[in-house]
Amino acid sequence: MPADQYLARLSCRQELNNSPLGATVPPYVEALLTQRYAKSTIRLYLHALAHFGHWMEAETLRLESIDAALTERFVREHLPACTCSMSLHSGVADTQAALRYLLKLLAHQRPVKSPGDDPITAELGRFGDYLQNICGVAPQTNARRCKDVRALLAYCSGAEPLVLSPLSGAQIDTFLATLIPRLRPASLRVMCNNLRSYFRYRALLGESTDTLSATLPRVADWRHATLPKALSDAQLEAFLKAFDCSNPVELRDYAIARCLLDLGLSGDEVAHLTLKSVDWRNGTLKRRLVPLHPSVTEQLRAYASRRDQLVPQPACAQFFLRDDGLPVNQRAMLYSLQTLCRKLDWQPRGDHAHHRLHDLRHTFIVGRMLRFYEQGIDSEHAVLALSTYVGHARVSDTYWYFTGVPELMTIAAERFHRYALGASQ
Ligand SMILES: [Zn+2]
Repeated sequence: MPADQYLARLSCRQELNNSPLGATVPPYVEALLTQRYAKSTIRLYLHALAHFGHWMEAETLRLESIDAALTERFVREHLPACTCSMSLHSGVADTQAALRYLLKLLAHQRPVKSPGDDPITAELGRFGDYLQNICGVAPQTNARRCKDVRALLAYCSGAEPLVLSPLSGAQIDTFLATLIPRLRPASLRVMCNNLRSYFRYRALLGESTDTLSATLPRVADWRHATLPKALSDAQLEAFLKAFDCSNPVELRDYAIARCLLDLGLSGDEVAHLTLKSVDWRNGTLKRRLVPLHPSVTEQLRAYASRRDQLVPQPACAQFFLRDDGLPVNQRAMLYSLQTLCRKLDWQPRGDHAHHRLHDLRHTFIVGRMLRFYEQGIDSEHAVLALSTYVGHARVSDTYWYFTGVPELMTIAAERFHRYALGASQ
């Protein structure tokens, strides 16, 4: 059913037409119909819009004033205290969903230039048109690209936003330098790709943008753009000593830490260990076949006997339990780890704002690799075996450790040096 026929039947049509949202409603309905929203949902959304439009009218607000802050103000301040005479209530959740959709639609429509726009908005209008009509880019991606390009253009035009000056490589360098401390590698990569797309657009208009594109760093499309964090021997010793094993909770957390550190299990694997996954007789874990190191077996036994006294009737089959018989999840494990790190006065390092359970698994893998090298075990076989043992999906995931652990990098460099010497003789 076309949008206008649909609107003709709507009870709140009059309110919508009289509000600042009037002209936006037909494309709004059209978009919902195209995306096959249920008729009942569309009706609810339109009632919510009519209410929002009625409020905007009363507050003498214009369509241009709509942004996330305004819709939030309507939901947080107006809805709870609403005394509107009309019966237009759609519930808070539906109203929020309807307004989110409206914001999305407006973000998509706005880059289209109007005569009064400043040069940056006008430029983004043209760029947005190019993305939509020539590249066929989805509205959300389009909005994100325009947002990133706006940040660059606003930065480069400085105090004079009314002038769109030609860009230079040096400006792009300093712009990126302001972002690098704040952005994670993945976000930086998206930003660079978006700027590259803008430079391609300018190149189509006949500008030479090769130098500008070359200024943008190529950020690897790889989750391993960060570095592995492993504990040093001294840290490891301090860490293990910090547990007070006379306390049942810390006894449990100590056994968990040993599973991560000595067996290289992931937090998820530890959380899902069950009573049946521990094969005491053969000294293995059956979840994936993991031989138990004697030190870990001892800790698991110590914990298991204490647990059976404290929680004789557990509410689940998991191995590690809370006092109420429920399983210890990863969040609880992480909380214990962070509490302990605070006790040791350890600051998080590198790309992550917090200490992570994964740091303990990294410690295991790095420790094993160093041991292999010390023992002169053939590196390729060792890495392959370790990769299989820890359950990495790709062997490159294991080789990644060579890129960020100084000790391993030194060993790899020495080996390469010896190899190069041998080859030149
Ligand atoms: Zn109201």
